[in-house]
Formats: sequence, structure tokens, C-alpha cells
Amino acid sequence: MKEAGELGGQVAIVTGGSRGIGLAVAGALARAGATVAVLALDEERAAAAAAGLAGEGHAAFPCDVADPGACKRTVRTVEKTLGPVSILVNNAGITRDNILLRMRDDEWSEVVSTNLGGAFNMTRAVSRGMMKRRHGSIVNISSVIGLIGNPGQANYAASKAGLHGLTRSVARELASRGVRCNAVAPGFITTDMTAELGEEVTEELKKRIPLSRLGEPGDVADVVRFLAGPEARYITGQIIAVDGGMAM
Ligand code: NAD
Repeated sequence: MKEAGELGGQVAIVTGGSRGIGLAVAGALARAGATVAVLALDEERAAAAAAGLAGEGHAAFPCDVADPGACKRTVRTVEKTLGPVSILVNNAGITRDNILLRMRDDEWSEVVSTNLGGAFNMTRAVSRGMMKRRHGSIVNISSVIGLIGNPGQANYAASKAGLHGLTRSVARELASRGVRCNAVAPGFITTDMTAELGEEVTEELKKRIPLSRLGEPGDVADVVRFLAGPEARYITGQIIAVDGGMAM
């Protein structure tokens, strides 16, 4: 028997849900009662992540979000397997950092087609069903870098700022059909993505964060769960920074 909860009876897709922030989001949604479809590039890791979630019925699906056809097929498979999707968390993201003058075409296009194109592909794939059922919540994981920029991350910052435009446009377009769309913009969070920063850089970073610490994946996941759920019913088109006060 599926446990009741604020998201009981709902099916949620989390892209890049096999580790880091995505895994924490999948965990928070599962604890709130949702059945979670964990999407990731690595099928084995995604399966292990789905198996470790609270409750039953969760499943893993391999999907490259940068591939529009794969997104359409995966959403169809998720809906056949788990039921209609009412929550989508666009979390999959990559970095390919380089200074502007050295940034290669592939570094630019891979980041934009994964971080921004992936969210577009997945949003388009789920939105018809959500609109028909007049119920849905989409949460995009952007970044404070999309708000304030960062040297060496022109591609990443542009992709995340693009997500903010996508979020607001989808929010306006789908609001009358009962579908909300918001973004969470994390600051520096302890995951594989930030593991390479080193102790010195991390200490310097902390000086720029009013709450004096890096964030934990759970700090982001709690806000995503809130935005996905009924308590956020009157919130759409918002970009919520979860950054210890860094970007204010
Ligand atoms: P991570 O590298 O630990 O995890 C990223 C996940 O995305 C992985 O599961 C990976 O398999 C998946 N992924 C990558 N490319 C994919 C593709 N083409 N198709 C499907 N899945 C793909 O990163 P994280 O730190 O957990 O970051 C998660 C999200 O949060 C990203 O969008 C990232 O930009 C954003 N973010 C992270 C931080 C941070 O400090 N860690 C800060 C701001 C924003």
C-alpha cells in the first residue's frame, strides 16, 4: 500500500535523479507520498537510486534529456508504467567551464542543449497531459549563476538565465490550464558538481555567503517539494534562490 502524504497518488519525474540534488529531490518527493520516475543517463545508478527511495512503486528510466525524441518516448513509457505525470523536476545539468576566448563550440552547445534544451524537451513532453488533466507542477533547477553570472561559466550562466525565461513563459502559457511552473536557483551546494572546488576555494566562497556555509542537497529538495505540492498552489512563474543569501 502506498503511504498517504501531501503528494500521495501523484507521479513525479526527476531528471538527473540518480545523485546529488536530483537524488535528494527524488527522496523528498517520495517521502511526501509521490511515486517517482528517476531519469538519468546511467541506468544502473538510476535503478539503485529508485530502489533506495521511501515507499514502493518508484522506477528508473534511462533518458538523455538533450534528445527530444528520447524525452517524448520516456514520458510515454513513464505514463504507461506508473500513470499520468503531474510533477516534473528539470534537474539534469552539466558544466563545461572555460574562459570566453577559449570556450569551444561543443562546450557551449552541450551545456545549452542539456541544461536549457533538456528542460524544454521534457516540459513539452509532459505538458499536453498536464493541460488535459488541468493539474501539474513543473520545477526547474536553475542556479544563482543564472542571476549574477560567473567568469568562466558564460555557457552555464546563459543556460540557467534561459531557464528563467522558460519558467516565466511556461507559467504564463499554462496557468489557465491549472499548471504551475517555478524555478529554484541554488547557490553552492555540496555535490559531485562542487566537489572539485578544493578547500581554499570553498573557504573563500563561504565568505560570500551570508549564512556562512555551502548548502546541502536537502536544502534545495525541501523547497522543490514545497513548490511541487499543494501549499504552493498560488505560486507560479517565480525564481526562488536557495543560496544562503548569496545573490540578494
Ligand atoms: P551532479 O553532477 O551531481 O548531477 C547531475 C545529474 O544530471 C546526474 O544524475 C547526471 O547523470 C544528470 N545528467 C547530466 N546530463 C544529463 C543528460 N543529458 N540527460 C539526463 N541526465 C543528465 O549535479 P548536482 O550538483 O546535483 O546538480 C543538479 C542540478 O542543480 C544541475 O542542474 C545543476 O546545474 C544545478 N545546480 C547545482 C549547484 C551545486 O552547487 N551543486 C548549484 C546551482 C545549481
